[in-house]
Amino acid sequence: MVITRFAPSPTGQLHIGGARTALFNYLYSKNQKGKFLLRIEDTDKERSKKIYENQIIDSLSWLGVNFDDNVFYQSQNIKKHIEVANQLLKNNFAYKCYCTQEELDQKREIAKQNSVNYIYDGKCRDLIEEKNLPYVVRLKIEKNKKIMLYDGVQGDVEIDTSTLEDFILLRSDNTPTYNLSASVDDKLMNITHVIRGDDHKINALKQIMIFQYMGWKLPKYFHIPLIHSEDGKKLSKRDNASTTEDYKKIGILPIALRNYLLRLGWSYKDKEIFNDEESIKYFSLKNIGKSPSKLDFERIKSLNEFYIKNLNENILIENLITYIKTYKKKLDDKIIVNITSNINILKNKSKTLEDIYNNSNFIYDFQKKLDVINDKNKTIINEFYSELVKLKSYDEEKISQINQDIIKNNNIKFKDLGQPLRLILTGSNQAPSIKDIIKILGISETINRIKLHIS
Ligand code: GLU
Ligand code: ZN
Repeated sequence: MVITRFAPSPTGQLHIGGARTALFNYLYSKNQKGKFLLRIEDTDKERSKKIYENQIIDSLSWLGVNFDDNVFYQSQNIKKHIEVANQLLKNNFAYKCYCTQEELDQKREIAKQNSVNYIYDGKCRDLIEEKNLPYVVRLKIEKNKKIMLYDGVQGDVEIDTSTLEDFILLRSDNTPTYNLSASVDDKLMNITHVIRGDDHKINALKQIMIFQYMGWKLPKYFHIPLIHSEDGKKLSKRDNASTTEDYKKIGILPIALRNYLLRLGWSYKDKEIFNDEESIKYFSLKNIGKSPSKLDFERIKSLNEFYIKNLNENILIENLITYIKTYKKKLDDKIIVNITSNINILKNKSKTLEDIYNNSNFIYDFQKKLDVINDKNKTIINEFYSELVKLKSYDEEKISQINQDIIKNNNIKFKDLGQPLRLILTGSNQAPSIKDIIKILGISETINRIKLHIS
């Protein structure tokens, strides 16, 4: 059975690159009718925070990337990691290194002065006697050998072992390092496919060596190129578009973000829009691109606009209410009903949930604007008002007729009526059409708002 995993360190919120990695792992496991596991890599006690762990889990669930089984915590497995290090020591695949920090720093400094790449020189590799001194445990890498990473995305990556240093497995306080923990956990969790960011390619070679020394069956590796910002640089926290939360808070729908991330560095023919079923059905690791992908914010927004337009309205409303409650003010139920029952109007031309929210602002956020009426349009508005009060309830046809008559009688254009009217009714130029505004406000509220301005 295919088993994949997503293995974030809880040292920050879920990054957009991480979200894509999680999505690919999830989709592949579902495509293969396998399992997708979540492993929290929380061995760095100082930087790992429960709050980030919760945020990551919440973000995954918001995105609809659901993992199987219970969360797996790396920190609960430290004993096993240490055991493996000791076994490697026993089999002479690892050794104790007693070099002090000062000694290593000095060597690093000399390498720097000579402009050569520093790697540990293997001083303690062949020590026979044990010393009663603090030590780290290093993997003993066979020199002058070629190690091959058969990468499902990048192709075969070959490396000469002499360019790799005998890396540390256990620190002097007996804590395991990332490469040891990750290898042991991948083995224990029976991971068959490791799908992760490009930045772990060198780690993969190190992890492969641990697997080989332990005689374990290797998983298959897939290293996905990173996501760059719009200007082609590495995406950083400062971009304001680096975490899933950044997208959530401007009102991007999870389904739109998922669709966007799916197509970022992966393709299936010319298809752009994928529902959940389709993305599972068509996903394959073969079609992952080799070059970095560039974030395209306009594309995200236009996909979001597509989903706002086409999503089942009840689902859209659910998303909208949660959005408003989380990021905007607490609205009372009457207003929420008003917004949701007019969603088909308010969602028009909206690219984000925030746009819909802004479009609906006029419903509850009304202020009298004194400067919107001048002498020129006063008569026009008055005329409109005196016709409108004759209506008992909203009647689209009759309102059209009133508009037409006024335009004709005064020899004006529609905007000469529409613009001041829109300002009076909403306090804003950005609002739905006049008819839609009146429909949403209702006749009596419309009359009230006009009255405030003309009396
Ligand atoms: N904790 C690592 C990271 O967040 C995971 C690496 C891996 O997938 O093996 O980058
Ligand atoms: Zn040493």
